[in-house]
Amino acid sequence: MDLSLLKALSEADAIASSEQEVRDILLQQARHFDKEVQFDGLGSTLIRLNQAAGPKIMICAHMDEVGFMVRSISREGAIDVIPIGNVRMTARTLQPVRITTRSGNKIAGLLDGDNNRGEISNLRVDIGAISAEEVELAGINPGDTVTFNTPFSQQPNGRVMGKAFDDRLGCWHLLELLRDLHSAELEAEVWLVATSSEEVGLRGGQTATRLLNPDVALVLDTACWAKNFDYGPSNHRQIGKGPMLVMYDKTLIPSPRLTQLIEHVARENSIPLQRDMFSNGGTDGGSVHLSGCGIPTVVLGPPTRHGHCAASIADEKDLMHTHQLLVALIHQLSRQTVDRLKDFSR
Ligand SMILES: [Zn+2]
Repeated sequence: MDLSLLKALSEADAIASSEQEVRDILLQQARHFDKEVQFDGLGSTLIRLNQAAGPKIMICAHMDEVGFMVRSISREGAIDVIPIGNVRMTARTLQPVRITTRSGNKIAGLLDGDNNRGEISNLRVDIGAISAEEVELAGINPGDTVTFNTPFSQQPNGRVMGKAFDDRLGCWHLLELLRDLHSAELEAEVWLVATSSEEVGLRGGQTATRLLNPDVALVLDTACWAKNFDYGPSNHRQIGKGPMLVMYDKTLIPSPRLTQLIEHVARENSIPLQRDMFSNGGTDGGSVHLSGCGIPTVVLGPPTRHGHCAASIADEKDLMHTHQLLVALIHQLSRQTVDRLKDFSR
């Protein structure tokens, strides 16, 4: 498995609305395969995989990661930051991070905060500066973005570790589909959509869907289980056990017709599936499925260990199986199949 693009995507820095580093990787691939690209007004990036007369399918993943933004610079040289997205509390103290300045320079620092019974406040990054002047001389300004400073690595036993797997794994799947299906004959017209600003409120998913108006949407995202070494039956996010098919989250309950279609395709292709439910949080699917008069939408993707922190771990087998499932599903999405998803008369 060629993981060089996953490494590039994971190491790219992109909090909500500042997603150009990820977008550039996607655009370079779209150009390589000579594909049409559109943007919504927030920066979501829509790559047209093919031209076809059949139903329009949107496959989307969000570009942004959880991180921080520079708020102010103290006289003593501390850089105050605010979280952007739901960074878990334990990932807010003593974390290596990097600041991306306006001119694109990367400056390493250590994030810390005041710990009041597990609630972390007054977040600040230390770059070793001893005055505000030194911070300013380094080119750092309010509004600059701050992300975890984690290199991508390949682990023993076919696992990978890196930052921003939520949702660069999804973005990587978009590019794998582009690479694999760029000249495929398909009945459906497929759009690979990288959305903006999911982690701050499912924003780009809304605007991109409005622009595209698809017949069906597949939302690629990831999740981790609270107990990483729990291999019991209630953990449906075990790495190496196959893609997660999300049956419920607070923002979306997918149509059983759609989930059953995916289960059928998985079974036919001997792809393992974990049927998951999100007890809190949602994904772009929550805003996507409410666009226009409603769009059949489902969320799926590879599980991870650890999330919304400095690093996650995934299993290459799950990436392979998610890709195989998506390819098989895309081939199944004919006009007739999609019409059946939306025909509620029987
Ligand atoms: Zn996500």
